[in-house]
Amino acid sequence: MSASGFLPYGRQEITDDDVEAVAAALRSPMITQGPAIEQFEAAVGDYLGARHVVAFANGTAALHAAAHAAGVGPGDEVLVPPITFAASSNCALYEGATPRFVDIDPATWNLDTVRAAREVGPSTRAIVAVSMTGLPVDLEPLAPLRGQVAVIEDAAHALGGDRSGRKVGGPGGADLTCFSMHPVKAMTTGEGGLVSTEDEVLARSLRLFRTHGIAKEGTSPGPTEGEWWMEMQELGFNYRITDFQCALGMSQLRRLDGWVARRNAIAARYRELLADERRVRLPPEARTGDLHGYHLFVIGVRAGAEARLAVFRALRQAGIGVQVHYIPIYSFPYYRDTLGYPQDTCPAAEGYYAGAISLPMYPGLSDDEVERVAAALREVLP
Ligand SMILES: *Cc1c(COP(=O)(O)O)cnc(C)c1O
Repeated sequence: MSASGFLPYGRQEITDDDVEAVAAALRSPMITQGPAIEQFEAAVGDYLGARHVVAFANGTAALHAAAHAAGVGPGDEVLVPPITFAASSNCALYEGATPRFVDIDPATWNLDTVRAAREVGPSTRAIVAVSMTGLPVDLEPLAPLRGQVAVIEDAAHALGGDRSGRKVGGPGGADLTCFSMHPVKAMTTGEGGLVSTEDEVLARSLRLFRTHGIAKEGTSPGPTEGEWWMEMQELGFNYRITDFQCALGMSQLRRLDGWVARRNAIAARYRELLADERRVRLPPEARTGDLHGYHLFVIGVRAGAEARLAVFRALRQAGIGVQVHYIPIYSFPYYRDTLGYPQDTCPAAEGYYAGAISLPMYPGLSDDEVERVAAALREVLP
């Protein structure tokens, strides 16, 4: 790519092997509901060390299914941080529950789980803890709530990361861990999502929800019913992923660790290049024993909202596809006006949002391009 080519903030890596894998799946008898889905789920399970992995059409469907499996329903409250993709809280709305926004920890940009634990009330059914940018969210403060409140980790940014030496989504984590395989995420199936859990009952609920609530197992056909028999046992959706997407996932999974390592190397280089830059705040680093997923590399423009806007526009002008992740969810018109959410309840989230800019971050970003981004940023900072 030329020195002046446009750099997106994120993009997928697709190799000839990936294309071959998809082509082979497309030539097979079953392009959906075939064997590749279970193979992929098993491969991800091995990778994470997780007992159960259920694949979905997208990460939002995965979150919806996780909220459903956790028993979230009307009258329930779900605690969620405001700095995340809207799907993290929408999953509570889908189930007729009420999201309640709990501020982020300004030191990690993740949900302040100490505060969340304190804010659990009689109607709190679940907590959606987001590993924002790929930094594993601290789940320790939620441990005493086990059995009382379901912990759902939205790890859409953290696939391939570690918490205390174990894979995010493996044992010792949340009750349910959700991932996305959108093309900007750590690996892709085009669209796709995953939920991992150690709990067999939750896993069964996830599978049922994925296929209209219809099951063949555990049914009770009458004496004149045959092999066609199946039962709709609850209201579910068609949230299935296809076999050719899972073939792509199998192929991508082999390179996931290498990509996460490259993302960490890019982050280290950005840190070096910006170490003495007082006008920006560098993102929080992972704790010892944790591995950052680095879906995003977010810097904070210290001078605040006006300066951030100027920097954003100048970088876009320079062909650098910066982005802002995220607008606080409660300030969207649907939440603010339709649902009547109060504003200014989360000062740390507002402070974060005022300065945040996501710099390009993806495995194919070259060292030269990283330098070009850092140099351009220094040049345009007011
Ligand atoms: C990408 C993302 C999702 C949703 O995933 P999709 O696959 O796009 O539906 C959910 N939460 C977070 C934090 C995300 O970044």
